[in-house]
Formats: sequence, C-alpha cells, structure tokens
Amino acid sequence: METSQLQAGEIVNLGYGIQDDAFSNYGTIDIKDKVVFFINGEPKNADGTYVISGTKAASKWSNFREEFALKRDLALEKGAKAVLYYNPDVFAMAALRYGTSSGRMSLVSTDKNMFYFLVNTQTVKALFNKDITSYDTSFKNETITTTLDLDYTNNSKALASENVAAIIRGSEKPDEYVIVSAHLDHEGVKNGEVYNGADDDGSGTVAVLEIAEAFAKAKKDGHGPKRSMVFLNVTGEEKGLLGSRHYTDNDPIFPLANTVANLNIDMIGRIDPKRKEGDRNYIYLIGSDKLSTELHEISEKVNTKYTNVELDYTYNDDNDPNRFYYRSDHYNFAKNNIPVIFYFNGTHDDYHRPSDTPDKIEYDLLENRARLVFYTAWELANRDERIKVDKGE
Ligand SMILES: [Zn+2]
Repeated sequence: METSQLQAGEIVNLGYGIQDDAFSNYGTIDIKDKVVFFINGEPKNADGTYVISGTKAASKWSNFREEFALKRDLALEKGAKAVLYYNPDVFAMAALRYGTSSGRMSLVSTDKNMFYFLVNTQTVKALFNKDITSYDTSFKNETITTTLDLDYTNNSKALASENVAAIIRGSEKPDEYVIVSAHLDHEGVKNGEVYNGADDDGSGTVAVLEIAEAFAKAKKDGHGPKRSMVFLNVTGEEKGLLGSRHYTDNDPIFPLANTVANLNIDMIGRIDPKRKEGDRNYIYLIGSDKLSTELHEISEKVNTKYTNVELDYTYNDDNDPNRFYYRSDHYNFAKNNIPVIFYFNGTHDDYHRPSDTPDKIEYDLLENRARLVFYTAWELANRDERIKVDKGE
C-alpha cells in the first residue's frame, strides 16, 4: 500500500459483507468504485441458530481465520474501491502487532488499487452516529451519506535480498528441471550476538554446493544429467519462507509445470537428542510420499543401494503437531503440486541460538546425508520417464 488519501461522500454499509446461498448482503447493489463497510460475524435466527448453516454451527463467514479474506476478496471482485472492516478483537490484536517497532517482513505486495482498513469503535461511531455490533436478518445493506477523508502513511521499509540459483542444462530433456534447495539466511545478529546457523542452514547450503560440484564434474567427464539440474539457495526462510515463495509465486525462473521435483535440505548436520531409538546415521524424511509414489520408492531404493541412512518418517505423519511439512521452503513447491522431499535432522538445544556453530556439526553424517540427496537427484534427473504425480488433490 502506498502513502495516499481516501475520500468519499458516501459509504455502502454491507452489514456482514456476506454473499451465500442462504443469505446475502449484496442483492443487486453495485459497489463498483465505492467505499464499503462491513462487520465481523454472520446473521442468526431468533432461535439462536445460524441463518447460513441452519444449525448451531457457524459458517466460514464468521470463522476467525477465514472471514476477513473471504469478505474482502468478495468486495474486491465486485470492484470496491476500499473496504472498512470493523472487528474490535482483530483491531486490538493488529494495533498491538503493528504498534511495535520490530515489524514484520513480507514480500512486496503487488495490489496497489484496493485498500482495506481495520476501523475501531470511535471511527464507526463517527461515521454512523451509533454503535454497531450486529444486524438482524432483515438488514441487507444501506448507502449512507457521510464525509470520509482519510490520510494514510505507509510505514514499511523496502529491503532487498537475493535468491541464488545455478543451472546445469540437461543433455536430453533440458526443459525439465530438478531443483535441489536450501536456505542461505539465518537469524543474523541480535543484541550483538552472531547467530551462526551452522546446522540451520549452513549444512544445507554446503550440501547443495557439494551436490552441484558432483553434477558439474559428471558433466565435464561426459556424463551430464539428462534433465536440467537447478541449485537454488533461497533467502528469507526464517522470515516466513519468503525467498522460496518469491520464486514460486512471483518469479519462477524455470516453469513450475516443468519442474519435476524439489529436494530441500534444511538442517542435516546434527543429531536430534530427543530421538531415543535407532542409529545416529539417520535422517528424517518429510513429504516423499505425499504427491508421488514413485518419488518415495526412488528415495528408498537409492538409499538401500548407496547410502544406507536410516530413513525416519516420524515427522511425515499428517497429524504430527510440529507440522514440519509446512515449515521449510519445499512447501512452496508442494503447494504447486510439485513432488518434494524435505531432509531434516530435527531440532536440538542449539536450534535458533548463537551456539549453532560449525564445531558441533557431525561431518560424517552430513556427508552421507548429502550423498543420499545426490543419488536421489541423479535418479530423478536421469531416469527415462519423468516421475508421476499420482497423489494429492
Ligand atoms: Zn532452517
């Protein structure tokens, strides 16, 4: 959003801002280029049941996590110029979050034309000359004449950062891509202390370079991969997977539709002290079987043949509360239906502390785990048929 002004002589009060089969605030009203207002919640019948569900169960229209985006996007689709949203609880939370100086990083937004504002109780009172907390089922919408004159300032600061990508072109199928990734950022310096990030994710970036070197050597010796190999070290992982999201959502250097798989390495140099059973020569695998049965089978097979790492699927369980599947860069590929494997040693006492230092890396394990990723990538790049996506939605 840019620093600017918003002026309007009328506001369309859309009540709850809902459009559903059982209830709609819109009807035939045209909100193109209008400033609209709606509140949180959804209508209830006199007996306490919800109008939309017909039961005691609330619908998505008042689901805390979904409702604002749903209502806002609906208004956007219908051409609204700006949205004023009144939800006192969310306002209080947002005021806390945005009132601090630490801020939050996000990708630069590309939507500059639609503005939305959380408004507080005083603003509602000033606009409507009354408190508004709910509507009865007969209320659809109304257009009120008022004076809205809003100056707003963008407080965000632009920061630049880079992903680093390299490619070895395939000899037979150069337009199909296998991506090996890790993240190059960590926590930086806080209160004068360097957060070293040797395991998170020095181990991954080093492994990516070693794997790239092996592929480059093979190519030089006349045995280059049939498909193209992309080596991608992304930025901003610790700030919310920003680098990988920029790659997949804003600027895929190579078409996602031609991207065969993503092997993502995030922490493979240490041992999880909470892991009580099994060999030290292990790695947690996450995601391998979620989209492609073939990928899982290839991973198992090359491991048996070449590396013999104990493959631990503890965190691959959909019900695991840690939800690691959603927490590193591979997720941005998986959400695009690209099969992924996430290689991860689990957390430890030095996780996200300055003490994550190189002397604590178990180099023999790091080497063997990197070989596992290499052999898997090698098979994906060289097999006759591209692996198939046979699972997922
Ligand atoms: Zn990490």
